[in-house]
Amino acid sequence: MSRNSKLYSTRRLVEAGRERGHEMQVVDHLRCYMNIASHQPAVHYKGVPLTGFDAVIPRIGASATFYGTAVLRQFEMTGVFPLNESVAISRSRDKLRSLQLLSRRGIGMPVTGFAHSPDDTDDLLALVGGAPVVIKLIEGTQGVGVVLAETKQAAESVIDAFRGLNANFLVQEFITEARGADIRAFVIGNKVVAAMRRQGKEGEFRSNLHRGGTAQVVKLTPEERSTAIRSAGIMGLNVAGVDMLRSNHGPVVMEVNSSPGLEGIEGATGKNVAGLIIGFIESNARPGKTRTRGAG
Ligand code: ADP
Repeated sequence: MSRNSKLYSTRRLVEAGRERGHEMQVVDHLRCYMNIASHQPAVHYKGVPLTGFDAVIPRIGASATFYGTAVLRQFEMTGVFPLNESVAISRSRDKLRSLQLLSRRGIGMPVTGFAHSPDDTDDLLALVGGAPVVIKLIEGTQGVGVVLAETKQAAESVIDAFRGLNANFLVQEFITEARGADIRAFVIGNKVVAAMRRQGKEGEFRSNLHRGGTAQVVKLTPEERSTAIRSAGIMGLNVAGVDMLRSNHGPVVMEVNSSPGLEGIEGATGKNVAGLIIGFIESNARPGKTRTRGAG
């Protein structure tokens, strides 16, 4: 499932599947339709039902989460094996929910507060240890809506502005010692198969590659490895991109991504990550092997 067959990750997955002898078809989830009341659940596409598939690889962008997970759920109801399950994808897309789940299971994360319309900005800031803080809009991706407030005054004005937007946001301890770099661990099953360190461009605390950051292969510590594997497991994701910062008190998780891009990680590490994903499907896909089949 992908909106665009020309995207790097989509192309690589199709290529890797064909190389290993599989038939691959790219389906634009927003163009799928289905009869949810039918006794025989099916997904229709361009006038025909999509049948005979062993597995589905969801590549659902943040803006299509709602409809994309509905289509995936329908595939699950027909018994097709999903690389990542719809429930796990929805869970990972909700930043508050995922941070709460990870924290409950003892995963390290930056000290984080969340708020919608706080009456007491002072107390909210004190809760996370005061400035400098990073303030994040819950809806943001690729570093948009992520602001570093170095002083209390700056933090207060950003929070005031966000309050006016009627938006949910996070206020987070700024991990200064990360020095504008983060770690992306690519997890498949219960293994980290590749990892890279992304460094923001000069003067930028955000390391997103879309914002001009650069990526290099990195060797993870055993603690970073187990944090990444556990985080993916807690979210219920078979394949995940776990983003961490190197803090003075060990790795802290920022986000667990359910459709991690392949271009950056394959480019930085030279590994055939697409092939490893197909390999995982070969070993794990069985009809009807979805925990959430029908329910959830
Ligand atoms: P998005 O999901 O929009 O990419 P992130 O939460 O990943 O937003 O933040 C973007 C970047 O900002 C991260 O990759 C990281 O480099 C930096 N960053 C985010 N939170 C912190 C923090 N608490 N301390 C230090 N740097 C951070």
